Amino acid sequence: MNKSRPSRLRFNFGFLLEAPIGTFREVELDYPSAQVAQDLTLAPLTGSFLATRISEGVYLSGELHSNSSQQCVRCLEDAIIPLQLDIDELFYYPPHSAPEGAYVIGENGYIDLAPLVRELAWLGVPIQPLCRPDCQGLCMECGQNLNHGDCGCKVEEIDPRLSVLKQLLD
Ligand SMILES: [Zn+2]
Ligand SMILES: [Zn+2]
Repeated sequence: MNKSRPSRLRFNFGFLLEAPIGTFREVELDYPSAQVAQDLTLAPLTGSFLATRISEGVYLSGELHSNSSQQCVRCLEDAIIPLQLDIDELFYYPPHSAPEGAYVIGENGYIDLAPLVRELAWLGVPIQPLCRPDCQGLCMECGQNLNHGDCGCKVEEIDPRLSVLKQLLD
């Protein structure tokens, strides 16, 4: 794994761990861009969350916003997908042992939000991204992007029901 970690999503909550149960701090993010992982940069990354000291560790809740740049499955151009990342996660701190797969607070009270943000971002990206809901796609004949206009190709109908209709019309 890459040893250098994205710093913009690391937060020192050491002071919260020292504080009484119920103490909270609001954290606001307003980044033009943030590298979440080697394979993911979110631009922008904005929003806010609340970090609350509870007995097991620190509980984070809030909402972040970003866009994800994907390739439209129909026309292959850029599709900007708005992402809403709902944060609702407990980060465990020793001596409380974390359940399997749970997030933990690192040494010195650091919380690294990157893995959580990455997970939420992937969940928010549709399997078949579209640049817009009514994307016309590419012409099967000449490859023109039909969002930019009709290319004039005559596409042969292969649906037999339609070809019967066509014969009647002819
Ligand atoms: Zn498209
Ligand atoms: Zn065409």
